[in-house]
Amino acid sequence: MSLAVYSVMVAGALIGYLLWRLLRKAWLKRRRAQLYASPFSADWPAVLEQHVALYSRLPAALRDKLHGHINYFLADKQLVGRNGQVVTDEIKLIIAANACLLIMNRNDAIFPGFKTILIYPDTYVAKQVSFEGDVKVSKNSVRAGESWHGGPVVLSLSDVMRGSLNGEDGHNVVLHEFAHKLDEENLTTNGMPILRNREQYANWIEVLNKEYEEFLSRVDRKKNKVIDEYGAVSPPEFFAVATESFFEKGPAMAERLPELYKELQDYYGVDPASW
Ligand SMILES: [Zn+2]
Repeated sequence: MSLAVYSVMVAGALIGYLLWRLLRKAWLKRRRAQLYASPFSADWPAVLEQHVALYSRLPAALRDKLHGHINYFLADKQLVGRNGQVVTDEIKLIIAANACLLIMNRNDAIFPGFKTILIYPDTYVAKQVSFEGDVKVSKNSVRAGESWHGGPVVLSLSDVMRGSLNGEDGHNVVLHEFAHKLDEENLTTNGMPILRNREQYANWIEVLNKEYEEFLSRVDRKKNKVIDEYGAVSPPEFFAVATESFFEKGPAMAERLPELYKELQDYYGVDPASW
């Protein structure tokens, strides 16, 4: 094969690939617009009022946005029961609503990069592997949820329902695990999701680092409030538990940790302290 023919073939393949990507992007945009515009089932608001405490507090305009995201989420994700758990439409709706609270005022793709959400009836046991020096240690750990990098979200339904019903205690396993999903969108789970621009990155790094250090110190001194001390495990866990508190304990966070609140407000595009 001559070099010229080879070059034409490579260029053709490249153009074909770029065209495919453009068409796919346009198709996804259209599908998303259709799902956003499709009617929200008339029975669903009552289910959400009953089971999702944060939904009851939302301003009407945000509710409308949330409905569009839920339509898309339910079309895009597969919710699968484990250990005999039957996944009803109601369960799907409650999980979708809690997850979409995180993105309701943003126009990004909905939790890209994975499709499956596994639902156990209750807390479940997973093998946890760690290293003590060079020695591999594996032990059983009881979990209410987890988020696999590039893979599924796993949830305990009893914890989902408890967290969803109480919108003021700062514990919501769906908000927590899907915050991890936002964190991993830039491929590293490091407590920093994809941000808007250079300025927001600079602010985030400055504020979140400072807040994390102060949080660790408060936990040490047993003076910690507002954010669950599980966040002391690592910056990604800090981001996930701070997210739970931001949505569920907005007024307390805005008052005691105003800089952190402002950073999360800027990122999530909502102001839970005012709900
Ligand atoms: Zn976590």
